[in-house]
Amino acid sequence: MMIVMKATATEQELQTVIARVQSVGARTHMIRGDELTVIGAIGDREHVARLELEGTPGVDRVVPILKPYKLASSQIKHGERSVLEIGGRKLGGPHFAVIAGPCTVESREQTLQTARIVHEAGATMFRGGAYKPRTSPYAFQGLGQEGLRLLAEAKAQTGLPIVTEVMDARDLEPVLEVADVIQVGARNMQNYALLSEVGRSGRPALLKRGLSSTLEELLMAAEYILKEGNESVMLCERGIRTFETAYRFTLDLMAIPVLKQMTHLPVIVDPSHAAGRRDLVMPMSLAAAAAGADGIIVEVHPRPDEAICDAAQQLPADEFADYVERVQAAAAVAGKALWEAPMTTGSFG
Ligand code: PEP
Ligand code: MN
Repeated sequence: MMIVMKATATEQELQTVIARVQSVGARTHMIRGDELTVIGAIGDREHVARLELEGTPGVDRVVPILKPYKLASSQIKHGERSVLEIGGRKLGGPHFAVIAGPCTVESREQTLQTARIVHEAGATMFRGGAYKPRTSPYAFQGLGQEGLRLLAEAKAQTGLPIVTEVMDARDLEPVLEVADVIQVGARNMQNYALLSEVGRSGRPALLKRGLSSTLEELLMAAEYILKEGNESVMLCERGIRTFETAYRFTLDLMAIPVLKQMTHLPVIVDPSHAAGRRDLVMPMSLAAAAAGADGIIVEVHPRPDEAICDAAQQLPADEFADYVERVQAAAAVAGKALWEAPMTTGSFG
């Protein structure tokens, strides 16, 4: 159930409603929007209904949430978009983000060089995998803790927030030491124990759509994170399995506008893993940005042909500045602007 408070409701009235909802064993999630405060009551609908909260001081109305994904639904925010704040950068609403970096942290030189180049080109955040989900157990699995250390160094040098994947809840502690955003990969989208742990960590999360998952399943997965009180979740369309074999996956661009009807959460797109081919990354990025995506996560490597992992799809770092410029223009078509570092003002004694 969704308890919509009056604009004039006092803090005391809010707390009273929360206490009453909790007294029947339901969980409460307060969502303070710009205009309205809503209390989501998650639990037995009958028990909450019996409280007859309509008419209670401060309460405007009580509305059932019809979707199975309650906290992720656009209904709970009355159509208002969620804007995530990550290391001083904004993502969502009018704010477009470019998250860029190598597939995998391979070496100090490769990581720091890429971080410097994407930073100079205006990237919003730096991505790089230390723990890699690989189809083959014999393939390189990532540098693990050493990879995390290199990501920390990249952050120290550029100030870029770090996006990196956690595959196992046992690695969450070291990952939390460097990650500004925890990525849950496509193959773990329905790892509910991991999602709950990521939710409890409170750290912003980037949740990728499973290879064969429906949008509703993606939102139910996001709900596991949100349910733990973590409101900073972005969803990522990264291509799904279809019968087509000419490219790695099929990028589902319609997921962007449709997810935006279903949820208030920001939606970003990964053209690299969808395409599996470098030549498709630019056109798909432009299409995604123009279709209203809140950001792009893209793979960039100083020498893609030498990359240990996903060599065919990584953009060469020396082409990245041009890439950002064009994607930025496409995002502007959808009314979005790339976050820009504020100009440092000199101080005059
Ligand atoms: C990745 O972004 O590094 C990755 C492995 O992506 P996905 O989980 O979408 O395959
Ligand atoms: Mn990759």
